[in-house]
Amino acid sequence: MDYYILTLFPDMIYNGLNHSIIKRAIDNGIIGINCIDIRDFSNNKHKKVDDYAYGGGAGMVIKPEPVYDAYISLKDRISKDTRVLYMSPQGKTFNQNMAYELSKEKELVILCGHYEGIDERVVEEIVTDEISIGDFVLTGGELPAMMVIDAISRLIPNVLSKEESFINESFNDNLLEYPNYTRPYNFRGRQVPDVLLSGNHKNIEIWKKQQSIIRTYNKRPDLFKKYKLTDKEEKFLNDYKNKLK
Ligand code: SAM
Repeated sequence: MDYYILTLFPDMIYNGLNHSIIKRAIDNGIIGINCIDIRDFSNNKHKKVDDYAYGGGAGMVIKPEPVYDAYISLKDRISKDTRVLYMSPQGKTFNQNMAYELSKEKELVILCGHYEGIDERVVEEIVTDEISIGDFVLTGGELPAMMVIDAISRLIPNVLSKEESFINESFNDNLLEYPNYTRPYNFRGRQVPDVLLSGNHKNIEIWKKQQSIIRTYNKRPDLFKKYKLTDKEEKFLNDYKNKLK
């Protein structure tokens, strides 16, 4: 997957992604991070890319031409139908399903705003998807872009090793992941659940599923509503609820 990020702060992206699993994926050539500095496309001798908002109001707005020219500079490197994701608090809230869907793309352009945002006309002209990372406002789109790139990239084959697999992770199947334990067996009087040491893989799998159900039921009732319980799981959950009474 090749990412092309239109940004005013390329170093933020390069530095932020140059660690751990994502760095390994870059080094192995599985993903490519290519930042395009919008400022390089300013037609102003001071490299200014923002201007006052028409109609007044606080804050500066990024001008349409440098964003458009930065995008057009990619024309020989991307296909005509490559999706352009605008990081925006007004977009659709990003989630794991969107990460899965986007991980199937060959390349993505990601547009990062700053200041008050970007002139609406260039957004209309080039953007295919507007994505928010949550109902709060950040100073720029660089952190959201890094989050989106991280979440998408770890779903691309060979980015995670077998040990790091995402198969049982939270949000698969609309369930949160079961609790994880490592050594020591006893930590400040809290012991690892015995079933995990039993060597009985069938029972371990059942325990993990039950823990996922309890966790999702307690922590994310909104998500839990989307999960279809089997008859056995329904009985297990009812027993669990009765024990709480
Ligand atoms: N004036 C805009 C508004 O009220 O909708 C907010 C602009 S924000 C200060 C500057 C830039 O940060 C945005 O253009 C966007 O790229 C990015 N940004 C801020 N919050 C975000 C969020 N929750 N999700 C994605 N991007 C965000």
